[in-house]
Amino acid sequence: MASISFRNVVKRYGTGKSAVQVLHGVDAEISDHEFIVIVGPSGCGKSTLLRMVAGLEEVTDGQISIGGKVVNDLEPSERDIAMVFQNYALYPHMSVFDNMAYGLKIAKVPRDEIRTRVDKAAKILELGHLLDRKPRALSGGQRQRVAMGRAIVRQPQVFLFDEPLSNLDAKLRVQTRLEIQKLHRELGITSLFVTHDQVEAMTLAQRMMVMNAGRMEQFGTPEEVYNRP
Ligand code: ADP
Ligand code: ADP
Repeated sequence: MASISFRNVVKRYGTGKSAVQVLHGVDAEISDHEFIVIVGPSGCGKSTLLRMVAGLEEVTDGQISIGGKVVNDLEPSERDIAMVFQNYALYPHMSVFDNMAYGLKIAKVPRDEIRTRVDKAAKILELGHLLDRKPRALSGGQRQRVAMGRAIVRQPQVFLFDEPLSNLDAKLRVQTRLEIQKLHRELGITSLFVTHDQVEAMTLAQRMMVMNAGRMEQFGTPEEVYNRP
């Protein structure tokens, strides 16, 4: 688990005359264990900010640190993060166990250790009885939990959620939101959660970063944000 800091973070896409600046100096300090929601309208730069933490986009200017260490120049694989996406595509031909274990096998984690970590994640996510099934034999909610299991087993210092609820129907959205809250209570992993949905933001956030047009306009608890003019 780790703190995250943004120091005057700037992002430009493209170069020369076609360059477009989409983040205009974001500053924020996030503590260990916090659950932060990044909220704002489509196109305001939320995904860009998250993808820079993940190392999927370069930081144009400024610094991003995780656990006090500047990560600007680190590859995604060198960062202690796990990302949960909107489209949680599972490998259809692999069992639930193998879906969760896959990243660890690639990382050459020893077999016993993989077994231990997958069993632990399966217990937290109530997937223990489904480990031998293929994704097609799961409900939507169970698939979403497998996708989260795949992130948990990596034991990251930071969780990055990129609109993980937006493709789900209303019922599943509520269920998955509760699941994410439970995960955070149990594991306490520092989390950044991107959404354009204000209700989702209010319900999940310990603090929220309210973005607009490439700037962070407010940063505080939901109470602080909604009581301020
Ligand atoms: P959000 O996640 O808030 O919807 P994004 O971070 O996806 O916003 O996008 C912020 C702005 O950056 C948008 O204007 C978008 O069109 C632009 N943008 C995103 N990715 C790229 C890219 N690879 N090249 C050029 N512009 C991009
Ligand atoms: P999101 O739904 O997360 O806001 P988008 O649908 O805007 O994402 O973008 C999907 C992908 O296309 C992202 O990888 C983003 O970086 C890229 N992208 C977005 N806007 C542009 C753009 N103007 N030029 C090039 N790539 C873009």
